[in-house]
Amino acid sequence: MRYSQYFVPTVKETPSDAEVISHQLMLRAGMIRKLAAGVYNYLPMGLRSIRKVENIVREEMNRAGAIEILMPTVQPAELWQESGRWEFYGKELLRFKDRKEAEFCLGPTHEEVVTDLVRREVKSYRQMPLNLYQIQGKFRDEIRPRFGLMRGREFIMKDAYSFDVDSAAADLSYDKMYQAYRRIFERCGLNFRAVEADTGSIGGTSSHEFMVLAESGEDAIVSCSCCQYAANIEKAEVRPVAPAEHAEPRPLEKVATPEKRTIEEVAAFLHVPHSSMAKCLIFVADGEPVVVLVRGDYELNEIKLKNLLGCTELEMAPDSVVENVTGAPVGFAGPVGLKVRIIADFSVQGMKNFVTGGNEKDIHLKNVNLERDFRVERFADLRNVVPGDACPRCEEGRMEMWRGIEVGHVFKLGTKYSEALKATYLDAEGKERIIFMGCYGIGVSRTVAACIEQNYDGNGIIWPIPIAPFHCIVSALNYKEEAVAQASDAIYEELAAAGVEVILDDRDERPGFKFKDADLIGIPLRIVVGAKNLAEGKVELKHRKSGEVELLSVNEAVAKVRALVVAALK
Ligand code: ATP
Ligand code: MG
Repeated sequence: MRYSQYFVPTVKETPSDAEVISHQLMLRAGMIRKLAAGVYNYLPMGLRSIRKVENIVREEMNRAGAIEILMPTVQPAELWQESGRWEFYGKELLRFKDRKEAEFCLGPTHEEVVTDLVRREVKSYRQMPLNLYQIQGKFRDEIRPRFGLMRGREFIMKDAYSFDVDSAAADLSYDKMYQAYRRIFERCGLNFRAVEADTGSIGGTSSHEFMVLAESGEDAIVSCSCCQYAANIEKAEVRPVAPAEHAEPRPLEKVATPEKRTIEEVAAFLHVPHSSMAKCLIFVADGEPVVVLVRGDYELNEIKLKNLLGCTELEMAPDSVVENVTGAPVGFAGPVGLKVRIIADFSVQGMKNFVTGGNEKDIHLKNVNLERDFRVERFADLRNVVPGDACPRCEEGRMEMWRGIEVGHVFKLGTKYSEALKATYLDAEGKERIIFMGCYGIGVSRTVAACIEQNYDGNGIIWPIPIAPFHCIVSALNYKEEAVAQASDAIYEELAAAGVEVILDDRDERPGFKFKDADLIGIPLRIVVGAKNLAEGKVELKHRKSGEVELLSVNEAVAKVRALVVAALK
């Protein structure tokens, strides 16, 4: 490819509407252009990296025995009504009518369509295991599309669906996908973790998310310093603490705390650490108030709470409910004397003589103690892990915390969709049985953005070779000089013939300008061809990542680039 004939509209200034680095750099490097909120044109440089990720995904899916198909973007409402998601999915599902007033949606995911296909075509146990996948544009009418390709409304996803005769067979399909995902993100050159994830509203039994580690990540994840345990903070387990040693219970004491409502305010006012206070939170779960206690220095995990209560709707109680339950204004709630059910995090089990709200305006209680002063219906793991917590799985490990970008998600679905859509098969005895399913997604376009979040510097993107739009750029310092043009062309031809993806910067621009573009676009290897070095038969090879520059003969440079590319793609 000759740069002068290509389409790479780079921009010097940082676009003001781009908050995260990948969005800024993809715009500046001429990889994408916005058409509407969360909807982008993929320009050549962007598309090339996307295709690289797609190809790695395709190779690994095929290797794992999955079979590629392509399903429609437009899906009939009936299937979604059958699964119950037409109502449930909410506004992310973009719905519309055709000229005959029939209802449709744009596919945000394809469980319904693929299950419909399979229930029609798969009749016998002999036809399974079956794993069907596609790489396709999805549409989700995200409430807050942002960060460029990271959270688009239209984006590219690889989605796969496995069909098995029973739960054990489905587990095997899941493991295969899990391993394939590890290989995919390793091959992309990403620093990632596979973490246990909450199965949330989809139900299911087991789920892992693949997280690219990056400061800008929307997810908090934790991993053990010793063993393999890693989880999304939403799901990460906390090792229960032993109940408190019998410190002498002191007499309950009312203290005035005028206008002091938050943990911070009360702790400062009473000169006690946050850990000597119990946070008393009031929720409404499916219409019923419930009181939840957590040690003052910890954060409640609402997902754990929701899973424990098994409710569909959980929200912080509005002020009116708090006032009703406690008989006091907001900010003075405590467990003593309340008439509603109280559940507490394990951390509260370890507390003695602590401080809580007094259920009276401007009053807190000191020396509160379990049993003597109030009863807890149930203790459970309800708080977020914090760095340094003991690992729930091994004896030595401590938890470490990271930010992550979710690029992939594998999920055991069980029979949720097959039951709703009646996808059954006949077993060896001719008995009708329900199919077990799994679903597996990779955000292809998000993966490209996530890679940039992890690989950049002040000058631009630093692509890992496997998903770089080009492996090498040949920068001709002055292409108008005969010798430079000839040598550059020869190097370009040789590299291309050796299977290196190479772009030749033959533009009539100053060297500094060309180097800036090359750094911005982030091509891993650059060969600089200039008249002075060429007179001695030499060119420069610059490594984008390390900044290292080597002066080599033309042949050496070509051989080295080739070797580096081959090694990176192995
Ligand atoms: P998120 O929590 O980020 O919204 P999700 O749980 O809704 O993701 P899935 O339904 O599991 O995502 O979709 C599979 C994959 O598709 C995700 O792992 C992610 O990489 C990608 N993805 C999901 N939503 C978007 C989006 N709006 N833009 C780009 N990629 C997305
Ligand atoms: Mg989502």
